[in-house]
Amino acid sequence: MDTLEFDDSLLNPEWDENLDKGSIEAAIKNILNSIGEDPTRDGLKRTPERVFRMYGELFSGYWTDPVKLVNDAIFDVKYDEMVLVKDIEFYSMCEHHMLPFIGRAHVAYIPNGKVLGLSKIPRVVDMYARRLQVQERMTRQIADFFKELLQPQGVGVVIEAMHLCSMMRGVKKHNARMTTSAMHGAFRANPATRQEFLANISRGSSPLHF
Ligand SMILES: [Zn+2]
Repeated sequence: MDTLEFDDSLLNPEWDENLDKGSIEAAIKNILNSIGEDPTRDGLKRTPERVFRMYGELFSGYWTDPVKLVNDAIFDVKYDEMVLVKDIEFYSMCEHHMLPFIGRAHVAYIPNGKVLGLSKIPRVVDMYARRLQVQERMTRQIADFFKELLQPQGVGVVIEAMHLCSMMRGVKKHNARMTTSAMHGAFRANPATRQEFLANISRGSSPLHF
């Protein structure tokens, strides 16, 4: 009995439309053979198909239009204090090893006439996470996206993450946790603004652990 079977009904049917089922399944079978496994044994028989379905979800960021994702949630307001959404949990895949890196993103901006519905910020983070990524680029992409979209007075993004490619491979454990940041506008130009952002992030937040 396979008690860990993933519930396929949770899958969004659009996720795997963009992937070539045959070639992904063949590739996974190849890998199984190459590491000395038997792809026809019970536990592995459906693995290529499972990986195919999982990739549809994990890499859905390639086929999601971020502007469509948010464009019904941009509002005109006069508010010009810092807006901060912190501790956004995300799961991504490192492009060097195709292993997960997981962590938290903190996103802040100072509006310049436009704000975005708060629930949309984690969805944008998710979309950039659901690709093969390096943490530095993902951080930059999120900051650039909000800069373009909202033309705010400033935007700051900090990402803390643990990389399984380091954690699982013994010797490099001390490199496993990484923090990256990207700052635009007031967050770059004004040390007090940046400091306010960084102080807010660390306030009351627990260290990363998985
Ligand atoms: Zn890696």
